This record gives sequence, structure tokens and C-alpha cells, in this order.
Amino acid sequence: MNVLVINAGSSSLKYQLLNPETGDLLAKGLCERIGLDGKFTYKPMVEGKEGVKAIDIPMPTHSEAIQATLNALIDPVNGVIASMDEIDAVGHRVLHGGEKFSAPVLLTDEVLSTVEECIPLAPLHNPANIIGIKACAAVLGDKVPQVGIFDTAFHQTMPPKAYMYAIPYEYYQNDSLRRYGAHGTSHRYVTKRCAEILGRNDLKIVSCHLGNGSSLAAVDCGKSVDTSMGLTPLAGLPMGTRSGDMDCGVLEFIMKKYNMGIEEAVNMLNKKSGMLGLSGVSSDFRDLEAGAKAGNERCALALEVFEYDVRKLIGSYAAAMGGVDVIVFTAGVGENGPSTRANCLKGLEFLGVKVDPEKNNVRGKECIISTDDSKVLAMVIPTNEELMIAMDTMDVVKSL
Ligand code: AMP
Repeated sequence: MNVLVINAGSSSLKYQLLNPETGDLLAKGLCERIGLDGKFTYKPMVEGKEGVKAIDIPMPTHSEAIQATLNALIDPVNGVIASMDEIDAVGHRVLHGGEKFSAPVLLTDEVLSTVEECIPLAPLHNPANIIGIKACAAVLGDKVPQVGIFDTAFHQTMPPKAYMYAIPYEYYQNDSLRRYGAHGTSHRYVTKRCAEILGRNDLKIVSCHLGNGSSLAAVDCGKSVDTSMGLTPLAGLPMGTRSGDMDCGVLEFIMKKYNMGIEEAVNMLNKKSGMLGLSGVSSDFRDLEAGAKAGNERCALALEVFEYDVRKLIGSYAAAMGGVDVIVFTAGVGENGPSTRANCLKGLEFLGVKVDPEKNNVRGKECIISTDDSKVLAMVIPTNEELMIAMDTMDVVKSL
């Protein structure tokens, strides 16, 4: 079975063609500048086939982007499948499923209107996801089943004490304002892999997705019981350019003093804060590490703030679950940043975590990085959200 995985943004569309049964990736790529000057990238993963990088293809809408993707996939010379009939299903990443979706779902017209109802909760992302879904339906027709996989779904098992905001209750009742979390597909993939690797399904896991966007999840016996992102991905840890949690009074101060409107202020918190704001140098952890090494104190400070917040959150999730068996690191920094990992775990020895510096000197592969006598296991598990989406899509399609 082949599943086309689509992650549609407002002017971009990422795609992968995967076989969820074998885990094989056949091709991947990216359509950028949709509605502008259209750039198309295609990377076949089959030997002897050639790809293209950021070539000009007119893509006035997402439909042309999907069509360009299909043309590349079935191209007689460099394609990886013979015809569109070899695409058995499409899996779409959708950011927000509100309280409506706690599992992957077949995208019928009725379901799509429920996804539309979630737009107020994710006004930037959900409309783009919906455009991608509609474009796929238009190009592929209704014979190919389409499945929605929601970033928020995995966290729907959180109890009210973890998701309620302590603001007047009517905002929850009337407007559904609460913590939803994100990165659900990634947290689910790595915690599922962790349970498979260790052969146990009774684990208390703190899953640390540390990338340009970062979040932690407390996962008890396979269920998310708490997570650090909130109604939006702005909450929780400081990130590449996002502030993470902070006192709302700071916003009031800045907006009043600098005569800033709410859009500009929120843009500042989303795009100019976090590691970039603190360091004044970069949002990229590699640049921060290089800067800190060269003696830049603000780069060092940015890293320290990040690592300190991750450490505190690991501790609080251990408290939330009444213990922790495994701490899993994933995503760009979690998979590739040995020093960030070690610093996040420094000071957690009281919990029973002991890092093995030699084992921790690893990048991008599944492994244990704690010592043999560490009470709590620390692991690196590379995430694979697209494979998770493809596997979920397959499960939904097989259950029809
Ligand atoms: P992601 O959003 O998961 O793609 O992660 C992107 C982040 O991972 C960026 O901040 C990168 O600097 C970081 N990253 C990638 N490779 C490394 C590395 N070798 N060492 C430290 N950070 C890295």
C-alpha cells in the first residue's frame, strides 16, 4: 500500500509517498511559493531516479501544486510509481481538531465541515490544511480515500486539571478555550517506538520534542496526560523564535509603552522572541552553540534558559505522573544535540537519571544514552511524523 502524506501550509505544501507496511519512503518534496512564482522540489528515494530542486512551475493554487506532485511521482523517467492508481490513500496533517477529534478520521464532507468549525482555534493553519484537502479531492477524485491526522488528537486524553485555564469558565464553555497541545503525531510516534523497543506498555514517559518548535508531553501507559503547548503552539518552552510561557503583564507593558497593536505584539512573541530574541544572533541551535563556544554570552544565556526550562518541565511531568521510567529526546535538537540533551538532564540525578557521556555522543539514531545503572532510562528516538501519518491512514482505510 502507498500513502501520499500531505502537509499543506498557506503558500507551501510538503509531500511524501510512503509504504506504511514496509516503512519505505519512495519520494518526498516540497511545493513553495504557491500563488506567487511557484517553486517545485522532488526527491525520489529510488536508485537511478533523478530529482529536481526549486524549479519554476506555475502554481497559482494548491490544486496545481498537487498536480505537479502527481506528475513527478508518475513521470515515466524519474517517477516512482507507474500511475495514480498506485496511490491507495492520502493522509493529511491537520493542526487543530479541537475537542472534536481524538483519532485519525476519514475526511468526508461532514468531517470537513467539522474541521472548518475548528478554524477559530487555529486561524492560520487550519484554513491552509483544508485548502490542501480540497485540492487533493479535486485532483485525485473521490475514489482515493483521504484521512485527517490532527496534531492535537493525541492529547485529547489529558484530564481537565491539565487542560483547563484558570480564567472565567465561560471562555471554555462558549469558546472552547483550553490547552490542546501540538506535536501529537510526533509524541505518539516516539512513545509508541519506545514501548516497542522496551517491550512494555506500562511506561511513564516524558517525551521531549526539541526542534525549532518544542514541546514536552507526559505520556502514561501510552496516553498523553499533560503537554506544554496550549491553545496555540506559542505556549510552554521558549523556542526558536517563540517566547513560550510568560507573564501576560509583560505584554500589557510592551503594548502600552510602545503603542503596539495586538497583532504586532503577538507577531513579536511568535517570530522575534525565544532563542532569537534572547541571543540577538539566531533561532538555530547550531548557531547558538557556535556563538556560545566563541564567547557570546547571550548565545550561552539563550541555551541556558532553554535547557533550564526543559529540565523544570521534566521534573514537573515526573511529579504529574508520580514517577518517570523513560525520558525520550526527539526532533532536530533532541536527536542531534548531545550537549543540549546532557544539560537538560543535568540536575535530575535526584530523579535517578544518569547520562553516559559516551553513549550520549550520538546523532539521529535510536539509542539509550543513560548509564546501565541509571534508574530512569534516557533515550534518543528520531521522530517520523510522516510515517506515523501514513500508518494511521492505512489503519483508517483498512477499517472501512
Ligand atoms: P526541527 O524543527 O525539528 O527541524 O529542528 C530544527 C533545529 O534543530 C534547529 O534549531 C537546528 O539548529 C537544530 N539542529 C539540527 N542539527 C543539529 C545539531 N547537529 N546540533 C544542534 N542542533 C541541531
